[in-house]
Amino acid sequence: MAQKEVVIVGAGPAGMMLAYQLVSNGVKVRVVERHPDFKREFRGELVQGSVVEQLEKAGIFKLLLERGLAIPNIERRMFVGHIRRVEVPGPREVGAVISQPGFLGLLHELCSAFPNYRLDVSTAVLEAIQENGRVVALKTRHAGAEGRVEGDLFVVCNGRNSALRKSFGLETETFETTADALWLRFDLSDAPEALPKSLDVHMFGKGVVMVTQPTSGNRLHIAYSEPDDLNKLKKDLPELRRRLLPTLKEPLRQHVDAKLSDHIEMQVLKIIVDRVKSWHAPGILFLGDAAHTMSPSGGQGLNVAIRDTFVAANHLVPALQQGASIDNLLLQKIQDERQPEINAIQAGQTRAGQMVLKPIGVLHVMFTMMGMAMRVMGKKLRAGHGIPPPQPKFLKPVAA
Ligand SMILES: Cc1cc2nc3c(=O)[nH]c(=O)nc-3n(C[C@H](O)[C@H](O)[C@H](O)COP(=O)(O)OP(=O)(O)OC[C@H]3O[C@@H](n4cnc5c(N)ncnc54)[C@H](O)[C@@H]3O)c2cc1C
Repeated sequence: MAQKEVVIVGAGPAGMMLAYQLVSNGVKVRVVERHPDFKREFRGELVQGSVVEQLEKAGIFKLLLERGLAIPNIERRMFVGHIRRVEVPGPREVGAVISQPGFLGLLHELCSAFPNYRLDVSTAVLEAIQENGRVVALKTRHAGAEGRVEGDLFVVCNGRNSALRKSFGLETETFETTADALWLRFDLSDAPEALPKSLDVHMFGKGVVMVTQPTSGNRLHIAYSEPDDLNKLKKDLPELRRRLLPTLKEPLRQHVDAKLSDHIEMQVLKIIVDRVKSWHAPGILFLGDAAHTMSPSGGQGLNVAIRDTFVAANHLVPALQQGASIDNLLLQKIQDERQPEINAIQAGQTRAGQMVLKPIGVLHVMFTMMGMAMRVMGKKLRAGHGIPPPQPKFLKPVAA
């Protein structure tokens, strides 16, 4: 029986994690990525404990640590204002900050050890080609020339605003979001002791939220959110300084004050929370942000994208190893297993977006009541959505 080939669109965390699980289990994989490399500007970097645990078991986390690409033991903490720490339903989260370019580069290196792996960079997928109602190939563009990539199954991991999703006319549910986020990155290698040791979310009421976290290379990541035109604010440095600095505590405030200039890396992220109703069509499956775009709230996008791949590989590997063709029933099983967690997290993100719009006094009252409820209801609220994280069956330990 001829070996089946899986074509993955997009070499982001979903695409590369799936590629590693498939190629290391003997499945032929071709990844098609429009960028020439893995350099990503601002992307999700907080990997939660349950995913870190799996990366540890596979020996991937150890490699990331050895290469200085991960910062372990990062707790996500919530504050109203500068100092009042508050608790939210769900377990205490201690994860790690991982450099996305570093992580993707490492996965590519691990995949490259297998002869059944191929990565095509600088190759954009334009559309899917269907025959008899099934996707049989992709139309691509590389160096100005159009091409065709054939395969047996196409897994679309091409992130938010996926044009392929649109071209399939997949019905999308979109949830209301209340503000966008301005991401800033500062080099603090001259003052590494000032870097935070956790990911701290400060809520100041009326939609103003400030997130600070350390990132690889002794840099500081800031995400500043408010329901105003952030693209305009980004261009008006004096105004940005006026709004940003009061939300920061010392010693970060003085460092940001000294370094904030036109040369600082800044990017506005349009916050989107949406999902396609069906994650698949004959011959094609959508995973990660392409299936369900997450808000940065709660640092979930990267984690759920990786978890999607655990479930996808659990179903796809045995079928592909047997040379079976992948039908809609199997693809639906993947969606069914992932849907409850995605729905629960997106509902939480939508509620959080509404909640932070309240004035700060109301936030204090709400969190006082939430704290009381957590003390009374204890375990029930600490369990959060209560959906256990999926366990990967095919995440092979890396060769020593
Ligand atoms: C600015 C920003 C900040 C973020 N911050 C956070 C955060 O703090 N916490 C968090 O959890 N999440 C955050 N996210 C979201 C998180 O990065 C994503 O949820 C996660 O990366 C999703 O992984 P993915 O593999 O599904 O998609 P992506 O990481 O988006 O990867 C998609 C890949 O597909 C490629 N691609 C796209 N179109 C094509 C095409 N037509 N042909 C070929 N290749 C294509 C892209 O180049 C990219 O490499 C952030 C996202 C952005 C943009």
